[in-house]
Formats: sequence, structure tokens, C-alpha cells
Amino acid sequence: MKEHAVKLAILDTLADGYFHSGEELGEQLNISRAAVSKHVKGIQEWGVDIFSVPGKGYKLAGSMQLLNQQRLQSEVSVPVELIPVIGSTNQHLMDRIGLLQSGSVCIAEYQSQGRGRRGREWVSPFGCNLYLSMYWRLEAGMAGAMGLSLVVGVAIVEALEKLGIEGIKLKWPNDLYYRDKKLAGILVEMSGQAGAAAHLVIGMGMNLKMATNTQGITQPWSCLADAVEHDIDRNQLAITLINSLKTALSEYEITGMQGFVERWNRLDNYLGREIRLIMGEREVIGISSGINEQGAVLINTDNGLETYIGGEISLRGI
Ligand code: ATP
Repeated sequence: MKEHAVKLAILDTLADGYFHSGEELGEQLNISRAAVSKHVKGIQEWGVDIFSVPGKGYKLAGSMQLLNQQRLQSEVSVPVELIPVIGSTNQHLMDRIGLLQSGSVCIAEYQSQGRGRRGREWVSPFGCNLYLSMYWRLEAGMAGAMGLSLVVGVAIVEALEKLGIEGIKLKWPNDLYYRDKKLAGILVEMSGQAGAAAHLVIGMGMNLKMATNTQGITQPWSCLADAVEHDIDRNQLAITLINSLKTALSEYEITGMQGFVERWNRLDNYLGREIRLIMGEREVIGISSGINEQGAVLINTDNGLETYIGGEISLRGI
């Protein structure tokens, strides 16, 4: 069996949320009970909450809907590669840029090296969230790539609204928030040369139903499950997001940021609220006033309206 295949097969059985004995799992997979126990430990290291009760077997803390390659591929028009266990979906696409068709998607159940901006970690436990990256060839080149995380943010929130999920907001430049807590992060990485098409990899990690005791996140966070009453169909959500991303990126090629400024400002989590912008040692405090057509954030300070843009800036509510 391929690497991880045994663990994935165990999870496939446990996904129903019921007890399954070590003996039953071992028989199914033609391995010993001790081997089952070893694999379960490995699964726990992926961040999955499995417990065992003597005489009953193993059980997930809750049921789990795994992603399904066939279903995903049948409902989107771009190539989709589901790699359940991966280092980073962005890295996977970055490594294959020359081979990919624009719009190609890589999606995973678990990332061992999920990343955010400036090399920070994106915590990516198995099976409970979405980790999705799309490759896009932007004819407008690197200059046109400025502000792309804003366009992607709009595309994602509008897709959630179409699914009836309300209250999701945007934080400049690259986060989705629910009730002032981080729900999802967007990471746009690129390669290319000035004057030529830009090769972009757009990654998104979105929390759907993550255990409250998840370790390693250094700021308040939320899950999509907090915003909806029914169970979330992860496959349907991924399909909707992929289609929405593709549409928004095609639109962006035609309209540029102009088509997105108002849409972004409508969803701004901090519009009219006091914020601080952190730029290394420097901080600016003022009232957040949306974005402009360059994708810069506007902030009303004691010195008047100021604009800021660049990858090294962090925005925080006060
Ligand atoms: P800043 O607001 O400072 O600019 P950022 O919002 O750009 O940061 P990223 O670099 O995109 O943050 O993401 C990394 C940060 O996100 C980490 O510092 C961590 O605190 C947080 N984080 C990591 N994993 C998750 C997660 N699954 N859910 C919510 N937040 C997370």
C-alpha cells in the first residue's frame, strides 16, 4: 500500500463516527491489532481526535466527511488534484508551475508545512478544514498581481453568501474573519519576470470545524461551523469555492481592481473602526476607511487620510 494509505483507510472506516474495534480494522486491512494501534497514533499526530475504549475499539470525536476526488472533479471545469497528506498545497503547485493549466487546483486534508505570510505557520489538522490552492497565469504580469488577495477574499465571501452563510468579513490584506476572529487566510505566491505573464499560486486555508483545543495558533480564531446551523458539506463547499475563484480571477483579468473595490469595502470587517497598522517597529493608529483602486488600505489619522500598501503590514483591531 502507498504511504499513508493504511491510515487513510482506517480514517475512511472511522469517518462514520461509530466505534470500530482494532480487530475489525486489522482484518479489513490485513494487518495486526498492534499495527492498527501504531497507525492510529500516526493519525493522531495529524491532529485528528480519536479515542479508544477497551472492549469497544476506536472512535472519532465526531463524524468526518472526507474529500472525494471524483466528486470534486465532476463538478468543476479545472483539473483538481486531491492529495490527502501533503507538505503545502501552495508549494506543490509552485513546484509544478511549468506543467500546469491555468486554474489547476491542489486540495488536501492535512498539511505538515502549511504556511502563512512571511514564513509563518498555517495550522492544518486533518479532515476538519479546507486547504486549497489554485494556479493562475496572469497575462497582466506581476504589476497586475498586486491586490490579488483582496480579489480572492471577495470571491470567497461572496461564494459563502451564495451558500446562505452570512456574517463573514474581510480583514486587509488577506484574511477572512467571523465575529472578529480569523476564519481563513489567503496566501498569494508568484513567480515570473517583469514584462511577462505572472505565475500565481493562490492558497487558502479555511477553518470549518476545528477542535477548540487545537495548538499552535497565536491569535483568536473561528470556524465556519460557528456561522452555520447545519453540517457543512466539505466537497460542496470546495466545489463552490473553486468555481467562484475561477470566475473572479477571469473577471479580474478584464476589470482589474476597479471591479472589486466596492465589493471589498462592503465586506470590510473594520470599516469605520479604530485600528492599528503594524509595520515592523512602526505603528499607525486611526479609523479604517476601506481600500482604494491600488488595493491599498486607507486609514484616517490625526494627520488626515493616509494610504498603505505592501506585504510587511499587519492590521489589528483596537
Ligand atoms: P497579520 O495579521 O499579522 O498580517 P496574517 O493575518 O497575514 O498576519 P498569515 O501570515 O496569513 O497571518 O497567517 C499566519 C498566522 O495565522 C499565524 O501567525 C497564526 O497565528 C495564524 N494561524 C495559523 N493557523 C491558523 C488557523 N488554522 N486558523 C486561524 N489562524 C491561524
